[in-house]
Amino acid sequence: MPTIHESPEPQGFGGRCPPHKSCILFNCRVNIKWRFVLTHDAIAPADKDGVRFVDFMAALSQLQPLSLDQFKVVRLIATDMDGTLTQHGKFTPALLQVLTELAANGIQVLIVTGRSAGWVNGIVSYLPVVGAIAENGGLFYQASGGEELLVPIFDLVEHRQQLAEMFGGLQAEFPQIQESSDNRFRITDWTFDVQGLSLEDLQQMHDRCQSAGWDFTYSTVQCHIKPLHQEKAIGLSQVLNQYFPDLTPEQIVTVGDSPNDESLFAGDRFPLAVGVANVLHYVDRLAHKPAYVTQASEVAGFCELAQLILKAFHSSSRSG
Ligand SMILES: [Mg+2]
Repeated sequence: MPTIHESPEPQGFGGRCPPHKSCILFNCRVNIKWRFVLTHDAIAPADKDGVRFVDFMAALSQLQPLSLDQFKVVRLIATDMDGTLTQHGKFTPALLQVLTELAANGIQVLIVTGRSAGWVNGIVSYLPVVGAIAENGGLFYQASGGEELLVPIFDLVEHRQQLAEMFGGLQAEFPQIQESSDNRFRITDWTFDVQGLSLEDLQQMHDRCQSAGWDFTYSTVQCHIKPLHQEKAIGLSQVLNQYFPDLTPEQIVTVGDSPNDESLFAGDRFPLAVGVANVLHYVDRLAHKPAYVTQASEVAGFCELAQLILKAFHSSSRSG
C-alpha cells in the first residue's frame, strides 16, 4: 500500500502518492506529534472531498496511540461491528479467537451496531458476547435471551409507516437510493445503502430529515432514518445503567470506526474511546474524536486493542 513519509524537516511533512496525483502533500508544514504511518487509504477521502490536509492533520494530532497503563482496569468493551469487528465485511478466525479469550478472562464484550434487530438477534446468540445493541441504540438483546426496546415507540406499525413516508420523500429527490436488504428486519429505523452517495448528498438528506422531525446518520455501509435522540451512546448508557451498574467509566472501552459511532467517542461519557485506524477517513469531520486510535484497521485494529487489554489485565493481576 502506498505510504506518505515524513520529510527531513523537523516540523515539515511531505510526500506523494504515486497512483493518485491529487494527493500531493509537499510543503504542508504542520506540527506532527503522530508516529503512525499514514497510508494513501487514510488520506485519499479527505483529499477527494476537498477537506484541507492541514485540517486533517490538526484533527489527527488530537489522537493518541494505545498504551498499556490506561487499559488496566477494563472490564467491558462496547464495540461497533461493521468496519470494527469485520475485515472487508466478514468476521475472521482471529476475531472469534480474541472474543473467546476475552470472555475466558472475564472481559465482557457488548456489540453496539447500526445493524437491524433481526440480524443482531441472531448474531448475539452465536458470538461469545454478553449482548448487543441494534439499530444505533434502538434495541438491546442479551446473550441469555432477553430483549428490550430502548426508545419510546408506542405504535410500531404506525412508526414504520411514517419512516416509509420519509424515505419516499428522500427517494423522490434522490431516485438512486435503494432500501437496504436488512430493512425488512428493522423495528425502530429505516435504512438504505450509502454506496454512490456524496458527502453533499448525505448532508442534504440529513437536513431534510431534521426538518421533518427525524434524525439521520450513516456508516460505511448504510444510511439510517431514525427517531430524534436515538443514538448509540444513549442506548449504551441505558444498558450500562440497567445491566452493568457496578462498572465505572474507566472500566469501559468504546470502539468504533465511523460517523454513527461519534457519540461513543464523547470523552466526557466514555474516557476510553478508541477508533480503529480506518476512523481516520472521518476524523476531521467528527465533533467527538476518539481519545485513542489503533495502528491497524478494521478487525485487526480491534484485535490489537483486545490483546493490549488482555496484556494489561494480566500485568495488573500479577502485580495485584
Ligand atoms: Mg462501523
